[in-house]
Amino acid sequence: AKEKGGNTFEMYHPEMNMRSLYRLNMEIELRKAVEREQFMVYYQPLVELSTGKIFGMESLVRWKHPEWGMVSPGEFIPLAEETGLILQLGNWVLQQACNQNAKWIAMGLPPLCVSVNISVKQFMQSGFVQLIEDTLRLSGLPSNLLCLEITESVAMNNVSYIQDMLDKLRQIGVQISIDDFGTGYSSLSYLKRFRVHTLKIDQSFIRDVTTDEDNAAIVTALIAMSQQLKIKSLAEGVETLEQLQFLRDRGCNEIQGYIFSTPLPADQFETMIAENKVL
Ligand code: C2E
Ligand code: CA
Ligand code: CA
Ligand code: CA
Repeated sequence: AKEKGGNTFEMYHPEMNMRSLYRLNMEIELRKAVEREQFMVYYQPLVELSTGKIFGMESLVRWKHPEWGMVSPGEFIPLAEETGLILQLGNWVLQQACNQNAKWIAMGLPPLCVSVNISVKQFMQSGFVQLIEDTLRLSGLPSNLLCLEITESVAMNNVSYIQDMLDKLRQIGVQISIDDFGTGYSSLSYLKRFRVHTLKIDQSFIRDVTTDEDNAAIVTALIAMSQQLKIKSLAEGVETLEQLQFLRDRGCNEIQGYIFSTPLPADQFETMIAENKVL
């Protein structure tokens, strides 16, 4: 404890100091990494249940740190969002994903739709729609082969502004998914109003969908609701045959999960699509 005058004492909090030092160090490292583009984009297949075929892939960023090795996004995306670095990083991922997808199409592989995670900050930055148009044009990727994954928290912002942006994006022809559906606070009526293409049911509901009655009821209702609204449903984090069967029985359209494949580096993903892997 250090003396603070009089007989009051201010305690050192070794834990807090460690944490802020750690955070500061992370931020410095992350800044360097963004400048040096020390990241990789992994791709995880999205599978259509009616055919068992891959129709798309989600791009998932990894930090390739020279000493720490691969850092998973859960460890640095929140910091990237707090510091604003997500704008530069997110833009880089978007470019990589579009370029890679255009390259695969040029190679003669079956055309797939690439999904890119867009954080709220990115989505709300001025000129975002123009950025999407520019990226598509520069990569040569057809707009219907790009899907933007936005979270419900986007809908918490200025509703008419969001609607205007989503309308513009739809006119361009890009797809829109609502990510992690069920974990946020958005009103269900926004789903209809925003006319998104796909609702991604969060993996926290899928994990124990075959053992937890509440989650089973939620997932069943979400699938039924998206059918009513004519929005496709995609279940995230599908790992077991039991979960798969549950989703099939309820008419879920699409899945993503370890049961089919983990996220893969581009070369391994390419091999998988070239081999025409089916569920
Ligand atoms: P998300 O968008 O919900 O992505 C799905 C996450 O679930 C990925 O984790 C994926 O590897 C994981 N996953 C897929 N199938 C399974 C499964 O069967 N079981 C389990 N246990 N997990 C599965 P990942 O790659 O660690 O990414 C975590 C989160 O980081 C993402 O969650 C997303 O919110 C964020 N993220 C990743 N890449 C980007 C990016 O480029 N930009 C932004 N803004 N966020 C990103
Ligand atoms: Ca996502
Ligand atoms: Ca998700
Ligand atoms: Ca998630």
